[in-house]
Amino acid sequence: MTKRPAVKSPYEKRFPTAQLQQQHLQLKLQQYQSQPPVYDHKPSFTLDDFDITDILGTGTFGRVSLAKFKTTNKYYAIKVLKKSEVVRLKQVEHIKSEKQILATVRFPFIVNLFCTFQDEQHLHMLLEYVVGGELFTHLRRAGRFTNDMTRFYASEIVLAIEYLHSKNIIYRDLKPENLLLDHQGHIKITDFGFAKTIDDRTWTLCGTPEYLAPEIIQSKGHGKAVDWWSLGILIFEMLAGHPPFYDNSSFGIYEKILAGKVQFPAHFDPLVKDLLKRLLVGDRTKRLGNLKAGAEDIKRHKWFRGVDWIGLLDKTVRAPIVPLFEHQGDTTNFEKYVDDADPVAAMGQQDTEYDHFFAGF
Ligand code: AMP
Repeated sequence: MTKRPAVKSPYEKRFPTAQLQQQHLQLKLQQYQSQPPVYDHKPSFTLDDFDITDILGTGTFGRVSLAKFKTTNKYYAIKVLKKSEVVRLKQVEHIKSEKQILATVRFPFIVNLFCTFQDEQHLHMLLEYVVGGELFTHLRRAGRFTNDMTRFYASEIVLAIEYLHSKNIIYRDLKPENLLLDHQGHIKITDFGFAKTIDDRTWTLCGTPEYLAPEIIQSKGHGKAVDWWSLGILIFEMLAGHPPFYDNSSFGIYEKILAGKVQFPAHFDPLVKDLLKRLLVGDRTKRLGNLKAGAEDIKRHKWFRGVDWIGLLDKTVRAPIVPLFEHQGDTTNFEKYVDDADPVAAMGQQDTEYDHFFAGF
């Protein structure tokens, strides 16, 4: 009996051998790496040039709002951080690093930062507005994603993390809350507050408990491998609807992460289980993504078989969720926030005591 060949994806038809696929993808990635970032070092406008309306999201020391540029009526997302809070919470270096990194990157699945400016009390970051909302909202609404949907988002994230690592940047805060969907449903990673340019290892404890790699919890010094660990957590959460290590307290979560026992729901595809067993490896020297071939090992894993990596980069592959919106400034894909106005700003106080921390921001 003759063996039946596996069905070939359009990608495999265009590039029939692994070598051809690899060569073409590398060329494409190089093209992206040579594109100049969109960041403008000398913006000629201030906050007054924008109409600031709906709050899109909040963080510990700031918020992100929708902003319409009055001259062109174009929409942006503006991240406003309160200097006093940034200093009080010892986040000065993180904020500077967020700006510096976003100002130097440009990639289809990473949010664009157009410019930054500041006044007495606040730092402002002008970002492209990503209309589709957080992947978190779409995931909670769906309960869990199918194998194919999960593979689509995971593939775009693999490409983005590979790109960041090629620039010696670790992201450190992968989770559905920081992944936005653009107007076509493609991923845009936002919030680079914990991203860092590294030579080798770094020691700061940061991230989100459920997504922390064991080496961060153990303060062993950590590097690029933490992003591949959190990719494993993210894939699990998309497929199961909940992360693999869960508890009411952060301490309980850390204990479970260090114990490293993963219970796979029965509906998980055996191939994804295999991938997750290789990503959620406590010993980072044995973790997929952190071995000799780097991200290539992940892309070549059987669960990703047939993925059209180039089509993803070109955004010609159709996304599984295409967000609904009526116009460019539609915020219906975001949760509603009440505007608890910043009391210091409301009093109109002049406050220059923090300026020296943010020179050149
Ligand atoms: P961040 O403080 O950067 O974590 O942002 C907080 C929240 O604001 C995010 O989780 C998103 O919901 C929203 N957000 C951040 N950046 C953007 C953006 N560029 N476009 C739309 N919403 C955003």
